[in-house]
Amino acid sequence: MSEDVVRERHQVRGVVQGVGFRPFVHELASRAGLAGFVRNDPRGVVVEVEGPAEAVRAFACALTAEAPPLAAVEAVTTERIKPRGETGFRILPSRHDGARGTPIPPDVGTCEECLTEVLDPTSRRHRYAFTNCTNCGPRYTITIAVPYDRSNTTMAEFPMCAACRAEYEDPTDRRFHAQPIACPSCGPRLALLDGAGRPLPGDPIDRAAALLRAGAIVAVKGLGGYHLACDASCEDVVARLRRRKRREEKPFALMVASIADARRLAEPCPAELAVLASPRRPIVLLRRRATAPVAPSVAPGNRYLGLMLPYTPLHHLLLDAAGRPLVLTSGNRSDEPIAHDDDDARDRLTSIVDAFLTHDRRIHVRCDDSVVRVVDGQPYPIRRSRGFAPQPLLVDPPFPQPVLGAGGELKHTLCLGIDDRAVLSHHIGDLETWAAMAAFTQAVAHLNRVFGVRPEVIAHDLHPEYLSTKWAQDQEGVELVEVQHHHAHLASCLVDNGRRDRVIGLILDGTGFGTDGTIWGCEVLAGDLADFERLAHLTPLPLPGGTAAVREPWRMAAVYLDAAFGPDPPELEVMRRAGERWEQILQLAHRGVNAPLTSSAGRLFDAAAALCGSRDQVSYEGQAAAELEQLADPGTGSAYPFPLTADGQLDGVALIAALAEDLARGRPPPEAAAAFHLGVAAGLTTACAAAREREGLLTVVLSGGTWQNLMLLDATRQRLVDAGFEVLVHRRVPPNDGGIALGQAAVAAAHRRDDAS
Ligand code: ZN
Ligand code: ZN
Ligand code: FE
Repeated sequence: MSEDVVRERHQVRGVVQGVGFRPFVHELASRAGLAGFVRNDPRGVVVEVEGPAEAVRAFACALTAEAPPLAAVEAVTTERIKPRGETGFRILPSRHDGARGTPIPPDVGTCEECLTEVLDPTSRRHRYAFTNCTNCGPRYTITIAVPYDRSNTTMAEFPMCAACRAEYEDPTDRRFHAQPIACPSCGPRLALLDGAGRPLPGDPIDRAAALLRAGAIVAVKGLGGYHLACDASCEDVVARLRRRKRREEKPFALMVASIADARRLAEPCPAELAVLASPRRPIVLLRRRATAPVAPSVAPGNRYLGLMLPYTPLHHLLLDAAGRPLVLTSGNRSDEPIAHDDDDARDRLTSIVDAFLTHDRRIHVRCDDSVVRVVDGQPYPIRRSRGFAPQPLLVDPPFPQPVLGAGGELKHTLCLGIDDRAVLSHHIGDLETWAAMAAFTQAVAHLNRVFGVRPEVIAHDLHPEYLSTKWAQDQEGVELVEVQHHHAHLASCLVDNGRRDRVIGLILDGTGFGTDGTIWGCEVLAGDLADFERLAHLTPLPLPGGTAAVREPWRMAAVYLDAAFGPDPPELEVMRRAGERWEQILQLAHRGVNAPLTSSAGRLFDAAAALCGSRDQVSYEGQAAAELEQLADPGTGSAYPFPLTADGQLDGVALIAALAEDLARGRPPPEAAAAFHLGVAAGLTTACAAAREREGLLTVVLSGGTWQNLMLLDATRQRLVDAGFEVLVHRRVPPNDGGIALGQAAVAAAHRRDDAS
């Protein structure tokens, strides 16, 4: 051989553990006849290959270019080292020392090959509910510590049988080093229990399916927690589930067996189908078919259905046996965290369910289903949890030291910033109860442990009453950074888009504590990661009764009409319904007792919804605004005025006045609702143009929960683009408060960098 023998060492970073990366490397090296080894280490994967220079070069290219589908290679550093004259290629045991930068992979939906085995009567895994391989299966939810090896997962309790061990050790097998490998003779087992916890005889899946068909509510232990399941077509049972779960109207998600079934219920576009069928398997919000055979109580008054496909063999088998779409909603009561521990599930769910379909593999980390919409053919996250968490977002510049973003209150997540990555936690829920607070502190401890860090800086919201704020203030030996809520939204959207420049932020949401002590929520900011300025905002009005006004949207309608017309407002249905409460609320607002000032976009939409609709109370945050969006008839072109005053106030009173007068003249509510949306979009665009004039900024970020309203999003973005702006929307983290922990961490890091320089 005339060619030189060389040896190269590659350090591969990214999501490269638990995704079949080592078998892939083994195969690649063996095929090329290269010697060396591959090994997981705390920073990712280390590969050394030795052989002819040409083959070593080709290997280096293929290492990234041909990486397995679930791997996300973020960086490869390569160095030439001295050849050792080795022969053969080996997979070495993991190294556990050093700083822990390696992400644990997210959970992955069952792959086609595993599903084929599960359905194959001749396979030894026929109908085995825990079948998985290096390309699919549980990951984050079973991992106790890093590196991601079986001994560090809840599968450690199940010693492999000889057949599984042979597959696990065979580099040519699809299950080579598949940590959760299992089969019917060695792995976890299903059980069906009645409501009192007594085992029921028979095949657990068939019997559970029979119960579901007969109208039972069954708790089903899944990947990240327990679901509550029932027949989605039967109104009686869905209504019963609502009563027992104490969830009045918030839509339930459905699981359907196949794409074909999804098409029977909804009208997905190709991009939506791709997200639905992706290995992350989120719930996708899809426009429902008018003829969809779904009980009215599944998603009352909603034009959308949240659908997902089965993501474990258990789900596939259950859906097949049930032969119909199932409601599959998180196992909890109202907005508590999802139950994931067996004893806890029995305590909390016994009063809701008729039976438990459960198993003996522990869930270490609770993880709700993720929720995604599709905007412009791209995913637009609403809840980022199972299938996504804890996959880090790469950030630039890196965090100067470990930072924790403590999050806000509703739709809570937290964020750990380490080096060049931001790890956003799974969804924790509304941080208002003891149970949610416990879930929060567990999540902090878990992420700190698996990533091997102790945050030196904790960023928290300005709101003094948030439990996340109080928790942060109780931590000792850390530096605290207060981050204004809407600045956190702005920073979150910047980081989401890999940006750090100064931009205009159109931040619209329900509630955020302002630097002036009032409640903000419709804000035109100019800012970057370090700082912000409030350029314009919605005219503040009193919020009569505080949170009671959030539950009763007509209260804001009263305040707006009072501001617009004084004692002589146009006659509208909403006033007649309120009766004498209307005057009482106005007196409350006038006296200013328990009526804090707010510039909230959520409350502006509440007022409009109350004028257009027939609802006096809502049962979940954002419900009135969601209904207003659905009511709006997109075909109508006019827009109500939403002027920007000389002192930087967006005049919501003028906007609501125009809406009220139009409705009083007999304009149909769907047209009026559309003109309201277009008016908001036009007013925001005017405010951005004024900001550009003053600040010379050409980019606008859209963040805050109100941007879940796609009609507003489309209309505003279109106008901004037409006006020559670059518009950034969320793509990887939610626009709502599920994304603010990321923004908090980024702001704190920017402050530290400024201090250092
Ligand atoms: Zn598989
Ligand atoms: Zn086995
Ligand atoms: Fe917010």
